[in-house]
Amino acid sequence: MTDEPTAKRRRIFSGMQPSGEAHLGNFLGALKPWVELQEQHDCIWCIVDDHAITSGSDPKELPRRTFDLAVSYLAVGLDPEKAILFVQSDVAEHTELAWLFNAVTPVGDLERMTQYKDKSQQFESVPAGILNYPILQAADILLYRADAVPVGEDQRQHLELTRDIARKWNAAYGDYFPEPEGLIGTVGRIVGLDGNAKMSKSLGNTVGILADPDEIWGRVRTAVTDPQRVKRNDPGRPEVCNVYTLHGHLTDPLRVEEIADQCRTAEIGCVDCKRILAESISETFAPMRERAEHFRRRPDEVRDVLDHGAERARAIARETIGEVRERMGLDWRSAVPSG
Ligand code: ADP
Repeated sequence: MTDEPTAKRRRIFSGMQPSGEAHLGNFLGALKPWVELQEQHDCIWCIVDDHAITSGSDPKELPRRTFDLAVSYLAVGLDPEKAILFVQSDVAEHTELAWLFNAVTPVGDLERMTQYKDKSQQFESVPAGILNYPILQAADILLYRADAVPVGEDQRQHLELTRDIARKWNAAYGDYFPEPEGLIGTVGRIVGLDGNAKMSKSLGNTVGILADPDEIWGRVRTAVTDPQRVKRNDPGRPEVCNVYTLHGHLTDPLRVEEIADQCRTAEIGCVDCKRILAESISETFAPMRERAEHFRRRPDEVRDVLDHGAERARAIARETIGEVRERMGLDWRSAVPSG
């Protein structure tokens, strides 16, 4: 994280779509830095189910996926004692603020978003939600008047739009919203097991963070390595191998150096290298698997955490919406003469 150690406490917001159990990319790129951030700042971690409906999520699957992501949040160490953990649709003010932001958001700005250009290709008739998605994102962040937002590189453009919306709204209705700063992670984009594209559930190139050791091995053994290393005794090139890159994130640093040397001299083959990676993943996530098991056995605890989180989030959200409504003239009672 590009966050100065001596920085004052800031309010930080971020969220993830409920696509079920988190994967290695989510963990390294988002959840792990979030766990660190909550130690120093007032953090609000959301499960953005209202966003999921724009990608045609199955209504029968969505509740389970939301619950499973909540278990992943708790398992990695997001802590309801230190941060607010909640589900977006529990706080209706998100969608209300998004509607109100429509008033200051130019359609041209939305049409310029790279993600919109990519996603809209997939539809013959593009749902308005695909276009308006970044307005809801702006509402998510500004509803809590967050100072900073940890985001992946690919969300930088949407955050810039959030800042524009804050600026335009402030210009029209008076200074109220901060322009949140992006905390761009240091990890970058984790490449999936195909060794090619961003690790992403929709591409089937992930390892789930709560997978058991056999499942982990089942996934990691399929990982694509250096394509030029065809035979066991061909010298390898760790610098172009994604399995080696993953070692850099998960294996003991001294062992990582050793692996590079052994790969170059063909002392170890790709299968050996993958076995070590599977073990590293398995060891890293062992305590999280245990915590996940705890919460799966006690789903009431998960529900209580999210209920309590929603209550706390709602208290902040109501204050913001009250102020916004008033400034936008949605307080008609103020025109009724008193007495
Ligand atoms: P998206 O994939 O559209 O960024 P997700 O809901 O899948 O959204 O991801 C949630 C969070 O996890 C985001 O902060 C995102 O940056 C991070 N993330 C997801 N996949 C990766 C990856 N392969 N590498 C690094 N970070 C990732």
